[in-house]
Amino acid sequence: MSNLVLSAPLKGWIAPLDETPDAVFAERMLGDGLAIDPTGSMLHAPCDAVIMTVHRARHAVTLRASNGAEILMHLGLETVALEGAGFEVQVREGQSVKAGDPLIAFDLDFLAQNARSLITPIVITNPDAFEIVRREQDRAIEVGDALMELSPVGGLAAPAAVAAHETGRQVVVPLVHGIHARPAARIAETARRFAAEVALVAVNRRASAKSPVGVMSLAIRHGDTITIAASGLDADFAIAAIAELIEGGMGEGGPVAAPAAAAPAEPVVEAGPAKLPKDGVLKGVLAAPGLAIGKAVRLSSSEIIVREAGDGVASEQAALTQALARVRGRLETAAARENAQGGDKARKAILGAHLAFLEDPELAAKARALIDQGKSAGFAWRKAVGGYVDALRGLGDRRLAERVDDLVDLERQVLRALTGEEESAATMAAGSILLADELLPSQLMGVDPSLVVGFCTAQGGPTSHVAILAAAMGIPALVAVGSAVMTVADGTALILDADGGHLRVAPDAPALEAAQTQLAQRQERKARAKASAHQICVTKDGKRIEVFGNVGSLNDALAASANGAEGSGLLRTEFLFLDRATPPDEDEQARQYQAIASALDGKPLIVRTLDVGGDKAAPYLPIPAEENPALGLRGVRVSLWRPHLLKTQIRAILRVRPVGQCRIMVPMIASLDELRAVRAVLDEAKREMGVSERIELGVMIETPAAAVTADLIAAEADFLSIGTNDLTQYVLAMDRGNPELAARIDALHPAVLRMIAQACAGAAKHHRWVGVCGGAASDLVAVPILLGLGVTELSATAAAVPEVKALVRRLDLDACRILATQVLDLTSPDAVREAAKSFLAQSSNTRV
Ligand code: PEP
Ligand code: MG
Repeated sequence: MSNLVLSAPLKGWIAPLDETPDAVFAERMLGDGLAIDPTGSMLHAPCDAVIMTVHRARHAVTLRASNGAEILMHLGLETVALEGAGFEVQVREGQSVKAGDPLIAFDLDFLAQNARSLITPIVITNPDAFEIVRREQDRAIEVGDALMELSPVGGLAAPAAVAAHETGRQVVVPLVHGIHARPAARIAETARRFAAEVALVAVNRRASAKSPVGVMSLAIRHGDTITIAASGLDADFAIAAIAELIEGGMGEGGPVAAPAAAAPAEPVVEAGPAKLPKDGVLKGVLAAPGLAIGKAVRLSSSEIIVREAGDGVASEQAALTQALARVRGRLETAAARENAQGGDKARKAILGAHLAFLEDPELAAKARALIDQGKSAGFAWRKAVGGYVDALRGLGDRRLAERVDDLVDLERQVLRALTGEEESAATMAAGSILLADELLPSQLMGVDPSLVVGFCTAQGGPTSHVAILAAAMGIPALVAVGSAVMTVADGTALILDADGGHLRVAPDAPALEAAQTQLAQRQERKARAKASAHQICVTKDGKRIEVFGNVGSLNDALAASANGAEGSGLLRTEFLFLDRATPPDEDEQARQYQAIASALDGKPLIVRTLDVGGDKAAPYLPIPAEENPALGLRGVRVSLWRPHLLKTQIRAILRVRPVGQCRIMVPMIASLDELRAVRAVLDEAKREMGVSERIELGVMIETPAAAVTADLIAAEADFLSIGTNDLTQYVLAMDRGNPELAARIDALHPAVLRMIAQACAGAAKHHRWVGVCGGAASDLVAVPILLGLGVTELSATAAAVPEVKALVRRLDLDACRILATQVLDLTSPDAVREAAKSFLAQSSNTRV
């Protein structure tokens, strides 16, 4: 590989990285390079490259050159706080650019007034793969001038060498989500049991294994080869223990989930203060489901002011020691309370993560070193935490960025302990809906759930700790609503429709009344449906529709039965055997399936063969890292890749008594050949076991390929069941796990409905029944359309079964058919939803 010369992306003055007034860059936490003090107002590409990430706040961009060098350019310092103001992005992630192409335009005057510094670091974030062999320094430079030259190191992105006094061992990381907060804390916990100095070395950086924050900031991903390096008497034991921990997967080993997500690019918009939209409706991403009506309570975390200069090293060190001890005491008390009350798992996990961060020796050491230089304890603590916060945010990894809130939370807790300030408690009355830029886990844990009926955050992600907490507390929540939410005044009336993904600000009286009616109706409807849940389910005009429940455990099966499910249309077998290092054998599987079948009391049980891959990991089945896991080894492809596992599973299903209660269903079918291959295994297993009874074998329709060839597949499948979750993802080419797309990925998109219609028509040719076991079966608005398209079985969540049954009884199938035909010609999911809602409103009016 030849050398690569980077050209200057900015007009300005070149400065060495060491002079950057920010430890993250000066200490090369993100890599080596240089900085430019800009005099121009456009950032250009330094070479031909692909845009890897554009930071949400539009102030930073990472590119990958064709030789693999990764270049981060960060306009100004602490410019993330400007939230995009002053920047205009000209490119999108994934775009190819040529050297000199404009990337980000910026308002130099605005930045000069509002940013901490204009100095712009340009760093190579994989410096172990590339060495800087020449760099310009201390001179004025024009865009396009040669800036630095990179030379590949040995052609291999090998982990950094182990120092002479150290022993080292390489491991490949099997953890699906890489080493995020929880595994980092476990590694640190293990490392601290040894006297040895232990470090983890990733491609381009090294961190003490005893520091969970340092380990997290390495951004180690699934499939990365890392080195454990240690020195000291018990170095070998430390290395062995950590290697075992990592290689064991910590319960998260296995195939890759969605590729480590880049920080989502903000759409290219004019910068400026966010405003409420005219209709007062803010859209966000569902974090916890439900509907709530309440009053706004803004939680703006007031800035805690800290002095830079200390009052003497000894007293500042003592102050920090006391503050850390005070926060630790509080966290431990809270954790003990949770344990005593048998507490919530999510709350315990968060308290545990805060304690692990608090005990992080690197954080404390960094802060103490700053105090030794004459800084105040508060300033030092903020700086130490801030360095990691920026490093994690700058890595462009959504999962790691979401862990930043724990660090920010901890920063505040210690600063408050230092200043003696308590968080100014917002006045909360019953029916409060919290609005915050970002809600910190400790803030949510501190609220009284009897007063708070929902929350909305400007930022945040659906997998953040607050989202997990909210779901566990049963509080409807939306995240990523945008900064306009913070312009809502305290006390403003709000309707939070988390399922619908929107917050209605200051609704007029009719909207408010409608929401109140909706809430009351929801409660009443639930109670009524439950009362009639065990009655048979036929439409008003006498068509039998089976309403089943989806199950993933014995408890689900019991709940489904109690809620009147007439069987199970989907047993997600992969959920029964998640957290384990070895595959379940035939006996174990047979026992589990039998228990579930018995809980269903002889009613049909559709057992889906293993559906791992994509976003579902099975640690015992490590699938090689994939560029596009959702399009890779998934479902039946995995079963046919490891046919002995399929055979074992089928044999276990065949052992369930009574024979025939279990039907078999195959996920992710894309062609008839796959079904034939599974049928061959089934026939072989039946022969071996002497089973002569007919065992129904059906397929899931989850790929567009299966939907459009349903007529071919139905010729040999006993039934079809539509997995609307995946079918929607594949028809719309929208990742079902991507929060940025969450609001748009809707099974009621006419394109998805046309696929379902085609599948039903194909099945009808061969007189096969079609069911739906994806999320749409639990969506009451979707039900009349699905029935109208020809679906005769719905497998909903256990909780939704009573309401689905009650609804089906109210429907007239001919009317559903007319509705279905009409909606196929609409142009958007919203239009379909509107049409279905008014149909439902009419159906309930005409109800006797
Ligand atoms: C689906 O894709 O709709 C489905 C039911 O399967 P899963 O959600 O388990 O992928
Ligand atoms: Mg699926």
